[in-house]
Amino acid sequence: MKVGNLAARPGEHVFGYLKMAASRSGLSPDIPVHLFAGAEPGPTLLVQGAIHGGEIIGSIAILNFIQKLNPQTFKGQVIAVPVVNRAGFELGERGSRIDGKDISRLFPGKKNGSVSDQVAYTYFEEVVRQAHVMVDFHAGARTAYERYVLFSAEGDPNHPTDLELMRRKLVVAFGLDQAAFFPPGTFGNNSAKEAIEAAGVAQITLEFGGGTGWFHNGADNVRDAERGIWNIMKAMRMIDGPFETDGDTCTVYNAGVVIWKPDVDGLFVRLKGFKDELKAGEVYAHLVDPYTGDLLAEMKTPRDGIVIPSGQEWPTIGATSVGILGTIDRVEDRRSADLYLTIEPFSAR
Ligand SMILES: [Zn+2]
Repeated sequence: MKVGNLAARPGEHVFGYLKMAASRSGLSPDIPVHLFAGAEPGPTLLVQGAIHGGEIIGSIAILNFIQKLNPQTFKGQVIAVPVVNRAGFELGERGSRIDGKDISRLFPGKKNGSVSDQVAYTYFEEVVRQAHVMVDFHAGARTAYERYVLFSAEGDPNHPTDLELMRRKLVVAFGLDQAAFFPPGTFGNNSAKEAIEAAGVAQITLEFGGGTGWFHNGADNVRDAERGIWNIMKAMRMIDGPFETDGDTCTVYNAGVVIWKPDVDGLFVRLKGFKDELKAGEVYAHLVDPYTGDLLAEMKTPRDGIVIPSGQEWPTIGATSVGILGTIDRVEDRRSADLYLTIEPFSAR
């Protein structure tokens, strides 16, 4: 098993830094990569954290996971990357201050672009392309998110592709009791998601609590994020064992309603919580002058929907989305669902 300048033989765990492009200053955000080559052949799982540098719940879960993962006892390969965006992570920021870009939106990257473009290119070519399944952990940074599995909308839900069917299983197997997808075009085109799909990689994204003081506020999220990685290994038949989950069902939301904040800055105060049902025109949040307390704006939902919010920083800057609402698309029952993926052949990609 080889990833860039790193190599592991069957039964080995190897750690190193995948060489990246450097900025003119010499700063090189080389990516920490753990390779676990299982003793027997099988599929390849990629787990990654902190592609948004301030979102660390998955990073801690991955570090806990790799402490326990023994390459002598599973089938296939695991590539574990606790922090993808090192430049952002070290400053506690979402993007990269080297060039102001968001690596997660840049795949498949550019060989001759800015540093983040090149990081995306090298990471995509060396790491992402090797994976059959990619588990991408996000979370709140300063403020906490709700926790759910996020996945790409299907082209035609009545005729899903093989990859989309795999992803449906991953969404349920991970173990959370809720999941959401955005209908195509909700936030404009996402060429990164398309590139990952075109590479034949089944990807799920996790939004997983977060916020400051993670140990106090998020130890349960860290635990369940790690639990999810083990569940995905079970679904990929890399290890045996029962799934450990929130419950028997997973509610899947069609997250089609976005609430936008006007281009006025202030203190964002959300009035509605996860699972609250709003009618069109109802107030979701207030924008308040943080110095006088004056109400600057009321943010209303344009359509009926159930709240599936992302966390929001305060003050919110610029005209940004401050809320996601949706409708229940379906409720998956784990007791009757087949959660096992068929991935053939197991030869290296
Ligand atoms: Zn994120």
